[in-house]
Amino acid sequence: MTTIAERVRRAIRDVPDFPATGIVFRDITPVLADPALMRDVIDAMAEPVADARITHVVGIESRGFLFGVPIALRLGVAFVPARKPGKLPWTTVSEPYTLEYRTDVLEMHADALTGDARVLVVDDVLATGGTASAACRLVERVGGTVAAVGVVVELSFLRGRAQLPGRIVFSIARY
Ligand code: AMP
Repeated sequence: MTTIAERVRRAIRDVPDFPATGIVFRDITPVLADPALMRDVIDAMAEPVADARITHVVGIESRGFLFGVPIALRLGVAFVPARKPGKLPWTTVSEPYTLEYRTDVLEMHADALTGDARVLVVDDVLATGGTASAACRLVERVGGTVAAVGVVVELSFLRGRAQLPGRIVFSIARY
C-alpha cells in the first residue's frame, strides 16, 4: 500500500536553484492539482489534531492558506490568516523574525482570536522554522494557545523543530 507520505513525495516537484542558487524548492502545486491526493492530504493533516479541541487554524501567507482553509473546513473551525505586513485592513499585531539574511514580519488581526482559542498553525513547508516560530509567537501575543504546528513537508535536515521547542509539530512528508 502506498502511504500518503510517499504519494506526497512523488507528487512534489523539486526545482533546483529556486529562488536562489543552492536551494532545492519543493513545489507543492502538483498536490493542489490532484484533487484525490489533496483530499487525502487534508484528512491526514486534520487527523493528528482530531481530539485536540482545535478552535482556529492559523495559515501562514501564502501557501499556508492553500492548506489551512480546507483543514479548517475539515475540522469545522475558524480560519485566520497570518499575513505579510500591510495586507490586513483592521488593527493588527506584528511579529518580526529573522531569516538567514533578512528580517521579515507577520501580522494578524488583533481581534482574530479569543482567550480560549486553541490553534493549529499551518504552512506548506517547514524549513529553518523561523516563520512557523514567529506565527506561534503571534498567536500567543493575540491571546491564543498554540495546540500544534502542522506542515505538509518538513525539511528535517534544516532542524526547524529546534526553533519550536516544547511545541507539538507534525508533518506528512519528510526530507
Ligand atoms: P523557514 O525557513 O522554515 O522559515 O521557511 C520559510 C518559508 O519559506 C516557509 O513558509 C516555507 O513555506 C518556505 N520555504 C522554505 N524553504 C523552502 C523550500 N526548500 N521549498 C519550498 N518552500 C520553502
